Amino acid sequence: MTNIAEDLIKCVNFAAEKQKDQRRKNPEKTPYINHPIGVAYILTNEAKITDLEVLQAALLHDTVEDTATTFEEIEEVFGKRVRGIVEEVTDDKSLPKEERKRLQIEHAKGSSYEAKLVKLADKLYNLRDLEIATPEGWSEGRVREYFVWSSKVVAGLRGTNAPLEHSLDQIFRRHERS
Ligand code: NDP
Ligand code: ZN
Repeated sequence: MTNIAEDLIKCVNFAAEKQKDQRRKNPEKTPYINHPIGVAYILTNEAKITDLEVLQAALLHDTVEDTATTFEEIEEVFGKRVRGIVEEVTDDKSLPKEERKRLQIEHAKGSSYEAKLVKLADKLYNLRDLEIATPEGWSEGRVREYFVWSSKVVAGLRGTNAPLEHSLDQIFRRHERS
């Protein structure tokens, strides 16, 4: 018998240790861990997701991309299903940035339901961050480009979770007008 509270806190702690030295790109340089925790919170609070392994994958979604964590380690500690979701939402860092961005658009539609949920919540969190403050060194054009690219990724994720898609649409509409 597993204990859900125990498994969730173990996962928050794992991600926090892995990402302890990282900061977000906002001018305040918020601790990076606020982001994965916030993505998991969007899933419970707004998307009403209670699937433990989806929430664990949300907490871990940037650990392999941004730290020395491996997929094997995630599987060992959190199991095959969590590893699979994290793998689906992890960009291949050996590819150039442009290609990674193109592949996110291309792969969105064919992703699993679980990966789509994490991707929707991730985009929603990042776009909300960008609406609050522009990262240092980003031009208005770069911010605009990010919104346009995100809307193309989200197009492939539709039909997954109405509240998240509604919130994203509100952001895209606000941005179209600005
Ligand atoms: P980055 O990948 O460098 O930054 C965006 C990512 O940073 C987000 O997806 C998010 O990822 C993370 N992030 C951290 N802090 C924040 C925050 N406060 N707000 C939002 N996101 C945050 O940038 P791009 O995605 O723009 O990728 C680079 C691309 O930008 C290039 O391919 C190029 O095309 C373009 N570019 C455009 C320029 C221009 O002036 N038009 C100039 C330079 C580049 P996560 O969820 O993983 O944390
Ligand atoms: Zn993220």
